[in-house]
Amino acid sequence: MDPLTHQVGFRDREVCGAELGVFRFERPEGYSFRPGQFASVTVATRDGVQTKHFTHSQAPADPYLEVTTRLTGSAFKDALLALRPGDVVGFTGPRGSLTLDPTVGKVAFLVGGVGVTPARSIIRDAVGRGSRLLFVLFHGNKGPECIPFQEELDGYGRSGDGRVRVVHVLERPGAGWNGEEGFITAELVRRHVDPLDGWRWLVAGPPAMLEPMKRVVADLEIPPDRVAVESFAGYE
Ligand SMILES: Cc1cc2nc3c(=O)[nH]c(=O)nc-3n(C[C@H](O)[C@H](O)[C@H](O)COP(=O)(O)OP(=O)(O)OC[C@H]3O[C@@H](n4cnc5c(N)ncnc54)[C@H](O)[C@@H]3O)c2cc1C
Repeated sequence: MDPLTHQVGFRDREVCGAELGVFRFERPEGYSFRPGQFASVTVATRDGVQTKHFTHSQAPADPYLEVTTRLTGSAFKDALLALRPGDVVGFTGPRGSLTLDPTVGKVAFLVGGVGVTPARSIIRDAVGRGSRLLFVLFHGNKGPECIPFQEELDGYGRSGDGRVRVVHVLERPGAGWNGEEGFITAELVRRHVDPLDGWRWLVAGPPAMLEPMKRVVADLEIPPDRVAVESFAGYE
């Protein structure tokens, strides 16, 4: 067995809108990871045993393991939804290198929907540690039914020192929304930050949203060595 594999018990879940679930598991003794890293989850599904990769959406200081994912109706996601407290899954990690250089002072995220998971982990960790890093999170979502981690992230944005700025962009905002509408574009980004003013850019999410985000990065003329990309390969 992979030495990074643990058998972990399912704890609980929260569902956001109809399309997104946050799943928590017991954290094995000694398990540690850096924000931005991912793990592989193995469950028995109606189509046999399957393994998929998920970025840790919690911070390293949290006493549980957490993954956040789109509920697509796939055999894997339905198996996650069917878990009851105490059911055991395989959890292999940590893996991946999308971690933050601690010497970087300013971090900007371009993410859509569930692509927020590394940003949430990195920002939650930094805020929890009282870090001096500056963050701006551009987070695109379809509508107001589910903006993952909105309350927590907006709370960081409102609290005190202005170190975290969150810019929500809704494709279909509906009545009463007074934030940004449409899609994340270079013009929209420039209205909030000077993109070349020392920011390090992290782009993450399913391939279908990565391509438009990469175009935004190109339009902003951000040098390649200032950009890290994490593709949630496996989504169409
Ligand atoms: C480094 C890394 C990090 C990742 N982090 C995350 C993360 O934090 N969160 C996350 O959600 N994913 C993450 N992924 C992707 C994840 O591993 C899965 O590939 C992804 O969640 C799709 O799994 P699925 O079971 O929904 O789709 P699959 O069954 O693999 O199907 C692929 C596509 O078909 C569609 N599909 C499948 N079944 C149905 C159905 N019955 N009806 C309609 N459509 C269907 C799905 O929408 C999906 O787009 C990550 C991947 C990598 C490589």
